[in-house]
Amino acid sequence: EYFSEIVRNAIRTVPDWPEPGVQFRDITTALQDRTVFRKLIDAFVHRYHSADIDAIAAVDARGFILGSPLAYELNASFVPVRKKGKLPFDTLVEDYKLEYGTASVELHKDAFKAGHRVVLVDDLIATGGTMLAATRLLRRIGVEIVEVAAMIDLPDLGGSDKLRAEGLSVFTVCQFS
Ligand code: 5GP
Repeated sequence: EYFSEIVRNAIRTVPDWPEPGVQFRDITTALQDRTVFRKLIDAFVHRYHSADIDAIAAVDARGFILGSPLAYELNASFVPVRKKGKLPFDTLVEDYKLEYGTASVELHKDAFKAGHRVVLVDDLIATGGTMLAATRLLRRIGVEIVEVAAMIDLPDLGGSDKLRAEGLSVFTVCQFS
């Protein structure tokens, strides 16, 4: 689709970053382009504006860039899902596996009311490990995850399929194979 191509073409691919063999999809070039940035946020707003969303949960840190204007436009709450050790109050933690080692995401216990309708946002889904850990946090609080949304999917890494297999609805704007 045309819009998807516009966003895709605005993303810069940086070879061998942060390590050899990785093709990093750099979203800063899309954000720098005011037309693309606006179209991108508008697309998310349009998708959810009549979905009765209470809150946007966004993943540290690039998810914040997309999630906060979306929350503002939807008149919804903004809730950060942070890397471990950044949140000052009582939290829930979920660990997940990386290629080497583990990582953790953390959420304030009082971030939502049970039953809140939430969209979870990040910039990119690769293995899905980050999003999956974030959904476990949200489910522990008892919110309704309306959809998991990202700007980019790397379908070959299987993350979006894994999320769908968990019964989640997944929306991504563009894909890189
Ligand atoms: P996953 O947990 O799905 O394997 O990896 C997704 C997470 O890693 C996201 O939070 C995303 O920001 C980050 N990430 C991994 N690879 C890339 C990439 O090529 N580009 C960008 N922008 N983020 C990436």
